[in-house]
Amino acid sequence: MRWWLILLLFLGLGLAAPLTHGPRERPQIALTFDLDMTPGMLRMLRQGKVASYDHSELYRFLEQSGVKATFFLTGLWIETYPEEARRLAQNPLFELANHSYSHPGFAQPCYGLPAVSVREKPGEILKTQALLAGLGVNNHYFRFPGGCYSPDDLALLSRLGLVAVHWDVAGEDGGERRPEAIVRRVLSRVQNGSIIVLHGQGGPRLPATLLALESLVPALKARGFALVKLSELIP
Ligand SMILES: [Zn+2]
Repeated sequence: MRWWLILLLFLGLGLAAPLTHGPRERPQIALTFDLDMTPGMLRMLRQGKVASYDHSELYRFLEQSGVKATFFLTGLWIETYPEEARRLAQNPLFELANHSYSHPGFAQPCYGLPAVSVREKPGEILKTQALLAGLGVNNHYFRFPGGCYSPDDLALLSRLGLVAVHWDVAGEDGGERRPEAIVRRVLSRVQNGSIIVLHGQGGPRLPATLLALESLVPALKARGFALVKLSELIP
């Protein structure tokens, strides 16, 4: 074996890849929602081109249905909707986690997300940790925007005491107008231990997420899955 391959393997073993699912033995799954907010989205909001990124109908649906969920919040979203963030934090059905401050792509290219310098990366993580702490949340989980990261980013995260949590089932609800397509994607991929990712910030790019959820939740329960919070799935 070539020396550089051995070195790569050695380095790779030292860093845990993002968790994408929990144990496959039990019929438990976690429904997770990313609450994205980029500076560009904030501009659209301030210019009145987008009415709101507070998808309160979706949160109320989960509350009223007694559905446990985990929200990965960007710091910009928390700062824009502090009251809603507090309400989510105080509901025992919900768990809150870190999705960066301004939703940049930690590795490039990343679906058109803006880049972030090495020097700014710790701040992108720590500012949102502080905002979560301000809501009374002692968070251990981080999700890279767009799922984009480098080995250095994983090392940074572990130095900061956080675990990278991604997903094994993507509803691909961004830009999707057909709720049934989201439902079909999730139901065809879900299995024991799955972490499902959808988006919870609403707005014009996510017109079908709530409608999908209204049929997805009963369908998942009918299949015998228990919907649990992330910390219950991966303790
Ligand atoms: Zn995101």
